[in-house]
Amino acid sequence: MRRLRPPEILDLFDRQVGAAPFARADALIDLCYPDGEARDMAPGTRNLQLMRIREAHLGRRIFCLSACAACGERMELTVDTMDFGDVPVADHVTVEHQGRALRFRLPSARDVEAAARTRAPLLQLMASLAVDLPDDVSCADPMLIDKVSQALDAADPLGCIIIETACPACGAVSRPVLDPAALVWREFAALARRLEDEVHALARAYGWSEPEILALPDQRRRRYVERVTA
Ligand SMILES: [Zn+2]
Repeated sequence: MRRLRPPEILDLFDRQVGAAPFARADALIDLCYPDGEARDMAPGTRNLQLMRIREAHLGRRIFCLSACAACGERMELTVDTMDFGDVPVADHVTVEHQGRALRFRLPSARDVEAAARTRAPLLQLMASLAVDLPDDVSCADPMLIDKVSQALDAADPLGCIIIETACPACGAVSRPVLDPAALVWREFAALARRLEDEVHALARAYGWSEPEILALPDQRRRRYVERVTA
């Protein structure tokens, strides 16, 4: 994983400002992990890489807000990115169905997007993931869809991150879903804005250029900003 330099963060933000949340997260992953394409990865692999990117640029602890599903109490949650360790993600799952072992690939973002463009997304996704499916087995069989869905969840546990937490007011257990793509992009957007604010303050005070200011080490740049805004 490579850590982005401040000018790269601003360039990324400029390029992705109107893009869909998934595309933004993919662009970030592709810059930090140049060896693979995020769109071809299983959801859990993408989520794990986003956690590692978050860690490297903004630290381990993530503070989130949620609301209790039972009483509506606002809850503050702290997530530690180190809680998400490397989980072996299988390439395929095998499900037993009508006395046969059927194989399915794990879906990538590319698969999900391609299926979403068709009239029957779920059916299309099932068909695209099936490996050598016998002619007499239908991808539309609800029982098969259920089995495959459960097997895929088990094979890619970080594909959907659920933070189980008890409400401090009523004790009810909530299971909010953490969406690393949305969260990390939001944080990078805030980081880009802060960098622009710092450039603005230092350019005005000292007449330095944007490349000069962004080339300063982070801590030193912030100390100069503290001086000019004190
Ligand atoms: Zn509650």
